[in-house]
Amino acid sequence: MEDCIFCKIISGDIPSDKIYEDDKVIAFRDIHPQAPVHFLVVPKTHVKSAAEITAENSDEVARCFEVISKLAKQEKLGDGFRVINNCGENAGQTVPHIHFHVLAGRALGGTLV
Ligand code: 5GP
Ligand code: ZN
Repeated sequence: MEDCIFCKIISGDIPSDKIYEDDKVIAFRDIHPQAPVHFLVVPKTHVKSAAEITAENSDEVARCFEVISKLAKQEKLGDGFRVINNCGENAGQTVPHIHFHVLAGRALGGTLV
């Protein structure tokens, strides 16, 4: 996708603080971290949001969760972490390429689930 900022990070056109990459998934630190640890796990295929997951692309989404588990160990998140997906306008999604936020490093509170 030409104008997608995450597609440009995936292609290397925009630099990122990358912590993981394989054939299907990339993970990099969020540019505006909201916790001591805050990274994004992103499938390489341009899927707009969680509302667009289908049987054809769900293997990449599943891989994201395998990667989250792997990175939780790599980043030593044994005290716990939160995975967030914002889908669409009301949820505050600002980048229309599906991604999973992983937040950790402090008590995250219990206000939203
Ligand atoms: P959303 O609001 O769509 O759930 O999350 C988008 C996230 O992407 C935000 O937390 C924002 O800080 C992050 N972000 C936006 N542009 C960039 C960028 O160019 N590089 C990095 N590393 N993160 C970005
Ligand atoms: Zn994209």
